[in-house]
Amino acid sequence: MTEPAHPLPMRVPLAGLPARVRVHEVGPRDGLQNEPAVVPVEVKAEFVRRLAAAGLTTVEATSFVHPRWVPQLADAEELYPRVRDLAPDVRLPVLVPNERGLDRALALGAREVAVFASATESFARANLNRTVAEALAMFEPVVARAREAGARVRGYLSMCFGDPWEGPVSPAQVVDVCRALDAMGCDELSLGDTIGVATPGHVTALLTALAEAGLPADRLAVHFHDTYGQALSNTLAALQHGVTTVDASAGGLGGCPYAKSATGNLATEDLVWMLHGLGIDTGVDLGRLTATSVWMAERLGRPSPSRTVRALAHDASHKEQ
Ligand code: MG
Repeated sequence: MTEPAHPLPMRVPLAGLPARVRVHEVGPRDGLQNEPAVVPVEVKAEFVRRLAAAGLTTVEATSFVHPRWVPQLADAEELYPRVRDLAPDVRLPVLVPNERGLDRALALGAREVAVFASATESFARANLNRTVAEALAMFEPVVARAREAGARVRGYLSMCFGDPWEGPVSPAQVVDVCRALDAMGCDELSLGDTIGVATPGHVTALLTALAEAGLPADRLAVHFHDTYGQALSNTLAALQHGVTTVDASAGGLGGCPYAKSATGNLATEDLVWMLHGLGIDTGVDLGRLTATSVWMAERLGRPSPSRTVRALAHDASHKEQ
């Protein structure tokens, strides 16, 4: 008997969905930032390059946060110059927590930055040691100066659906913070379900509330976590609402320190399998991407939690040899 063919999803479109989705790959930053063992900078650079070679057009490379807060990303100054030649074909956003971080990023030629706000007071306090309003005030000059420098700015918003201390988060509360980020000049807002509690009706309710507040789907990205197995259902709800930018992490790398379970970020492979099955173009080569996640999992010393990576890993490891 011959070997079965490399499996691919059957392409069966569903009415009312976008023709193309931009995957915003967060593996090198959001995926690695909570890894306890420091990954060598050469491995990180190779990871970014392999993701780009797999067809990802946006790869969030690192964070210019103070090294004390995220030791894993303390090598941002060494990493960014190793990958910046990928731009402008590949967009390489970097997280900047404050003006100092922005200065460091701009000095290295970053053309796209992201700030990280919270929809809830509890998480703003835990993550930024500030109130929501104080955090927004801190970001205002960061966004203004980034835009003056010609850089594109993404505003991340955490805890858009639920908060581990406060419980459910109302769409109205999220709308208020989104409006503030929009008013200061963010080009795109990424709605984070940091603890993975959202379900599709909640996603639709929030996106509807944002549209009514003058923030249409083309200004938004969604950042779902798969903690409760809802990330793809929620993504489909967002696509039905017109969202065309979806955040995901190769191999499902990265959890949330506030949700103590193994499963965190939506795996890029799981997302791409669904999108390609729906006939939605991403430009991503699923085989190459899976091979990259298998390679990275070997470096981290544990298997990827992604269902799709696990299902395809046998083929991918053959391709790697
Ligand atoms: Mg995440």
